[in-house]
Amino acid sequence: GKITIAIDGYSSTGKSTIAKRLAAALGYIYVDTGAMYRAVTLFALNNGFVSEKGALDSAALIDKLSEVNLKFVPNTETGRSDMFLNDENVEQEIRSMRVSGFVSPVAAIKEVREKLVKIQQEMGKDKGIVMDGRDIGTVVFPDAELKLFMTASPETRAARRYKELLEKGEEVTYAEVLKNVEERDRIDSTRTISPLTKAKDAIEFDNSDMGLEEQFERIHEFAKR
Ligand code: C5P
Repeated sequence: GKITIAIDGYSSTGKSTIAKRLAAALGYIYVDTGAMYRAVTLFALNNGFVSEKGALDSAALIDKLSEVNLKFVPNTETGRSDMFLNDENVEQEIRSMRVSGFVSPVAAIKEVREKLVKIQQEMGKDKGIVMDGRDIGTVVFPDAELKLFMTASPETRAARRYKELLEKGEEVTYAEVLKNVEERDRIDSTRTISPLTKAKDAIEFDNSDMGLEEQFERIHEFAKR
């Protein structure tokens, strides 16, 4: 029968690449929970809940959280889903460095996590789902039949993210991307609510040296067992 697959790990470890391919190979639904935290962050930025100096007004965001309406809408061109925030396609915007710079503090807010975890659990209630994030195997689906924990060196991860951003035409340096990746990992692993940590029963994959292609084959084998 269908199972639940939870994929967690640090930023830009190739989680989403693996998750997408796995979902396609198994005929499962793929859910990128990072996109949801990014959309809430965009909402906070658009509403001025982040000051010029970069301080996040958590209270203001919590107050308006009920006005955040998130939806995944299948895109027939890409074969993937686009993130919609209040009926607007924000798929491109949420990947910007501006959003990346604020997403970890937003994701550390208890009320934000409670709202998103509830939606995620609802999406996965019928199994046949591959979900990637930071707390999927620990909090969202602690009973998932298959849990993966992805790691890679910060340099491998920053190089990967840097290449993606350049391809999108974003003006950014490798040093900035490396700093952001390390900063997000630090905040994500040290926050009080649902810190990023490997679930006891998760299988760890380090893909610093291994190509994602080779890695996918190994993980696919696990999923078929
Ligand atoms: O996966 P992605 O890098 O797009 O996630 C962006 C940020 O969203 C992470 O750095 C983390 O702060 C937050 N996040 C989270 N829990 C999840 C998914 C993402 O806290 N399940």
